[in-house]
Amino acid sequence: MTVNLLDYDLEGLTLYCERLGEKRFRATQLFRWIHQRGASKFDDMTDLARSLREKLSASAQVKPLDILSQHISSDGTIKWLFDVGNGDAVEAVFIPEKDRGTLCISSQAGCAVGCRFCSTGHQGFSRNLRAGEIISQLWFAEHFLRSHLKQCDRVISNVVMMGMGEPLQNYSELVPALRVMLDDHGYGLSRRRVTVSTSGVVPMMDRLALDCPVALAVSLHAPNDELRSNLVPLNRKYPIEELLAACNRYLAHAPRDFITFEYCMLDGVNDQVEHANQLVSLIRQHASGRVWCKFNLIPFNPFPASGLLRSPIEQVNVFAKILSDAGIVTTVRKTRGDDIDAACGQLAGDVQDRTRVQSRIARQRTIMLTPIPPTAKPNLEK
Ligand code: SAH
Ligand code: SF4
Repeated sequence: MTVNLLDYDLEGLTLYCERLGEKRFRATQLFRWIHQRGASKFDDMTDLARSLREKLSASAQVKPLDILSQHISSDGTIKWLFDVGNGDAVEAVFIPEKDRGTLCISSQAGCAVGCRFCSTGHQGFSRNLRAGEIISQLWFAEHFLRSHLKQCDRVISNVVMMGMGEPLQNYSELVPALRVMLDDHGYGLSRRRVTVSTSGVVPMMDRLALDCPVALAVSLHAPNDELRSNLVPLNRKYPIEELLAACNRYLAHAPRDFITFEYCMLDGVNDQVEHANQLVSLIRQHASGRVWCKFNLIPFNPFPASGLLRSPIEQVNVFAKILSDAGIVTTVRKTRGDDIDAACGQLAGDVQDRTRVQSRIARQRTIMLTPIPPTAKPNLEK
């Protein structure tokens, strides 16, 4: 069977090379070709011995995901749709900012958690992505942008696992992908610049702390169990007390001294003054002398089936002020790329209508990528 080398972290690739009878350092060379230089053909890897290249060609490949479409927002945000087979597709979004380039990537086709306000949740769960399919989104985006911008330096400085899916419900494939992101021979990202966002899979938060502690964002969305269970069904299994205790344990291993709580602002549902006050007491109870979290308020991005509305900005500001006045650092997330449905929670990969996607995949296979118009070039001043 042909293996896909994108599925391996450096340790996995080293074992693979050893099985081919090669020295360990060959794996490092190969890994650098793939991830640092974006090579996918063994013949291009000119400093590898011909005999190794032949062995590799016989048993392995570097097979990134096929791309179905690319959309560019007026604010420079770029969204790519990747084909993951069987009519499923996943999305990745590049968000250029003055001082950084962030890539938001997917971990699953669909999601089994089924949060009420999330378009991915509404479509249900299709399957877990393989490690190679997760890293493929970064591999493609980084090398595509580098060649497009004619830039040799790194373009993507931050990765957030905030695309489609619950990363901690695909743990065994997530961890090797994270290791490739962090590896100095891979993308060399610092742990502080790689964020896993979770709806609160408590046991896996503990494992992540030991296996691969990166920055953590927790989707809280409500100050009490009754409301949270209604919005995030996983709360019935891991209620708020257990979740906050797990956050506290994670802190001992985290690369930053805080955890970010994401809070999606839903008009009349979780955005009232009483909710903000409840949050303040909840956080104080768990602070043990020091507030160790920051809040990121996300204006809800509506989609037709949700039946929910975005909180008015005045309400978001009132809410933010209550938290800030209580000494909790609070930011309101700027919505990016909403003209191309690339904003948080709008990523549906169009899998809900499988027949439509299947015919679209068939149509688009042959279409070349649209070039990025110079005016929409992401602003990537360093
Ligand atoms: N499954 C993970 C990561 C993907 S969702 C998680 O839930 O954390 C990434 C973030 O987008 C989460 O905080 C999620 O709550 C938020 N989100 C989902 N749907 C949204 C919507 N319609 N509008 C705004 N934010 C949304
Ligand atoms: Fe899944 Fe996250 Fe969407 Fe909830 S918010 S359904 S956990 S992707």
